[in-house]
Parts: sequence; structure tokens; C-alpha cells
Amino acid sequence: MTFREDQISRYSRHIILREVGGRGQEKLLSSRVLVIGAGGLGSPVAMYLAAAGVGTIGLVDMDVVDVSNLQRQIMHSQKTVGIPKVLSGARTLERMNPDVKVVPIQERLTAENAMDLFSGYDVIVDGSDNFGTRYIVNDAAFFLRKTLVSGSILRFEGQVTVLEGYTDAPCYRCLYPEAPPPGLVPSCSEAGVLGVLAGTIGTLQAAEVVKKILGIGELLKGQLLLFDALSMTFRKLRVPKDPKCPLCGPHPTITTVSGSSEWVCQVPAT
Ligand SMILES: [Zn+2]
Repeated sequence: MTFREDQISRYSRHIILREVGGRGQEKLLSSRVLVIGAGGLGSPVAMYLAAAGVGTIGLVDMDVVDVSNLQRQIMHSQKTVGIPKVLSGARTLERMNPDVKVVPIQERLTAENAMDLFSGYDVIVDGSDNFGTRYIVNDAAFFLRKTLVSGSILRFEGQVTVLEGYTDAPCYRCLYPEAPPPGLVPSCSEAGVLGVLAGTIGTLQAAEVVKKILGIGELLKGQLLLFDALSMTFRKLRVPKDPKCPLCGPHPTITTVSGSSEWVCQVPAT
């Protein structure tokens, strides 16, 4: 691939990095990343990936922009209130970088469509806001052996992990074997969330995606990064694979993607 003059300028700060270079930038331009949720986490993830020149970005979200989203969902604006988030997001990303092709998917991610949607992408990013969706995303990524970059936020705390290489590393079900019953864990709309926290966690997710595409550094595989904005502390926990995991363990009982993404609740307690 030969870069156009304007691309050499646009990506010059990447290209001069020994770990990226022209080859790395080519990889970014030819990669395909699917972002689940065009909200608080999806916004910074998609915006940094677009700025980095990730060639194709799929956005999955069925909601429309609401004025209460704007405190943290920086991909949207006052002008796009009332329009589908995936279209509002596509508008922002294409304005940022014309090299990027955005695929807006205005659907709820379900057990039925997850495998189909994921199959055309290299890396999956989970920025969803409920456990039902998280398990569907995890299971579909596992069956397709796709790298999943997972993030979540609530109140002043957030967490990030990378799920891949399941023979020696955990899946999301190893970390959280069971979802709490609906109503036990409050959602962002009930408990609140510090807007800027979405930027912190989403940006960390974007960094892991870019590293994965470039094949550099050490990913948060088998590790859970916890962030507390009030004390401004990061903690890294090792998360072992659960030998009894019903999905990625030696005797799986989950063999297809199933379950519902209907009920909404948020970050599990750690
Ligand atoms: Zn597992």
C-alpha cells in the first residue's frame, strides 16, 4: 500500500514510532473493529480508532441520542439529539477522518444476530450497559475466537480487560460466572456515572485495540484493570481461567449463543 501525501501528514506521528511505522499504519487502515454500544464507552473508543485510521468501524446500537447522554457520550451533540446514535456517531467519525468507513448497525445485539455481526470483524469492543448483552458478546467472541476488549463503568469506578487466547486465559464467564438478578446492581441511569470516567475507560479500551492490531506491547489478557476516579488509583488483578467455566472450560455446557439482552444492570461488584 502506498500512502497518499495527506495520509503521510495525517499519520506522521504514528509512522515515526518505531513500533508502528508505515507497516503498522497499513495494518490499522486495513483492520475492522466492531464497537458494541455507541454510548459513553463507545464514543471515545470509536473516536480514537477513527483518529488512528482504523479502516472500518462498525457501530451497533439501537437507541437514539437523548439530551441526558451528552454529559458523557462525546460522539454525539446537541444537534443530533433525537437521531439514531449510530448515525450521529458515523457523522462524527467520518468528519474526523475521511479514510474511515463507518458501518452503522441500528439493531439490538441479540443471541440471534451476534455471530453474523461479529464474523466480519477482527476485534470486538464491548461498551454495552447490561449483563445480558455482555454474556452474548462474550459467547459469540469465544465461538469465533475473536479478541474482545471489554470495559464497564458505574458511578466513579471502571474496569477494563481483554479476553482472547482462551486455552490459557479466561473468558467473561470465568470472571463473572453469573449475572446478578435484575434490579440488584443499579444501572447508570439509577446510580449515576461521572461523565469523564467514560473517557478514561473507553480510551484505555481503544489503546488495547490499537495494540492488538499492531501486535505490540502486553494486553490486559488474564488481567482486570480497575480504576477509581475519586482516589485516582489503578489496580491490576490477575484473573485465572475457571476450570469449571461452562463456556471455555474442558466440559462446556454452553455450546451456542443464547440468552437475552433485555434487562439492564451494570458493573459487577469486585
Ligand atoms: Zn470461561
